[in-house]
Amino acid sequence: MPQIAAPRGTRDILPDEFAARRWLLDAHSAVAESFGYRGIETPIIESSELFSRGVGTDTDIVEKQMFTFDDRGGRSLTLRPEGTAGSLRAVVGAHLDQEIRPVRVHYAGPFFRAERPQAGRQHQFTQVGIECIGESSPALDAEIIEVAWQFYKALGITGIQLQVNSLGSASDRVRYRAALVAYYTPLEASLCDDCRRRLHTNPLRLLDCKRDARFVEGAPLLWDSLDRPSRDHFTAVLRDLEAAGIEAIRNDRLVRGLDYYSDTVFEFWHDVLQGAQGSLGGGGRYDGLAELLGFPATPATGYALGVERTLMVARALGTIPQAPAAADVLVCSVEPAEADAAAGIARLIRAAGTRTVLDVAERRLDRKLRGAGRIGTRVAVIVGENEVAGDSAVVRDLDGHSQQTVPIAELAATVTRILGGAS
Ligand code: AMP
Repeated sequence: MPQIAAPRGTRDILPDEFAARRWLLDAHSAVAESFGYRGIETPIIESSELFSRGVGTDTDIVEKQMFTFDDRGGRSLTLRPEGTAGSLRAVVGAHLDQEIRPVRVHYAGPFFRAERPQAGRQHQFTQVGIECIGESSPALDAEIIEVAWQFYKALGITGIQLQVNSLGSASDRVRYRAALVAYYTPLEASLCDDCRRRLHTNPLRLLDCKRDARFVEGAPLLWDSLDRPSRDHFTAVLRDLEAAGIEAIRNDRLVRGLDYYSDTVFEFWHDVLQGAQGSLGGGGRYDGLAELLGFPATPATGYALGVERTLMVARALGTIPQAPAAADVLVCSVEPAEADAAAGIARLIRAAGTRTVLDVAERRLDRKLRGAGRIGTRVAVIVGENEVAGDSAVVRDLDGHSQQTVPIAELAATVTRILGGAS
């Protein structure tokens, strides 16, 4: 029978990588919480409308990349392709923003997009993100960028490039759309099919088309369509970033692939990632999204960072800490007759807070001890006939290659002492 493999575009996370991810996820929670963000979790399946209305029907994500299916009652559900729409629905739906403003939340979890799988681009991937909901201050746009910046710093990742731009307000974009249509209409015959259609539905999307990138250079600049308040907002963000010591590169063409953004948008890039893999993460302000989802107008800003791509960069830079050994102590019996005594001793050492594995295999003692070396434990506790009779066990320091016979009552303390470095 053929063996069953993981579905295309998905990956198993094996123990060494699991440890690296936990290191990253813990760092993100710790940094976000140091800024007052609190954890949330939202469903992995959402009503498809959340994304068609929130992310936008003319975006690549909604048009081509969603895993959508009907439930048994014929309702259309989608595996979430991004976390902002769900987080906003959760926070505003529960009226959290009526108690405190802004509401600061962070999240981590799996997301799904049917993109062509390649390095750094999967069907199932992981994002960490934060959302700051209920206030429109530019200081909060700068704050969320600073959270991401501190997160990369906590991981030891240097060489991050931050690109920023402003999409302005809804009325700025109406002006800009008109300018784009005027520019692209004479080129219409040379555009790809997607762009020709989007020229009439959502011309902003033409700026992030990979196929028609050659036309982008001559396109009108968004900045020229921004009114005074929008420019002031963006200027304040740039000033706050500078004050925080964060170098920002202005990219006039940065529009991001989702419809819900307004004013500040940004992306993080790193040279380690090749062009096809894209950005490390990104985000921006999305003041119009709540209304698109049927909620009262609520200003908000946030980001999402790709966990797998961030780990690729951390791996290339050598900043991932070595995965810890599975356990610190291995307990084994010399003969099967002492197996119960060994199990009791393992329980005792574990109860004292030390990670302990019990070797239950029926094999020779020297092979069990070699196994301890492979697991990476530093101490072996051996129970033989004499030890059972004497209420004791042999404690072997596998690093120092010394051993001693210790009464059971002193076992846990002895093991702790050896692990603490003072044998
Ligand atoms: P986006 O929501 O498109 O801005 O994505 C934010 C981040 O999530 C990206 O910068 C990537 O790091 C990551 N990401 C997005 N799509 C994928 C994917 N298909 N596979 C792996 N990571 C992804």
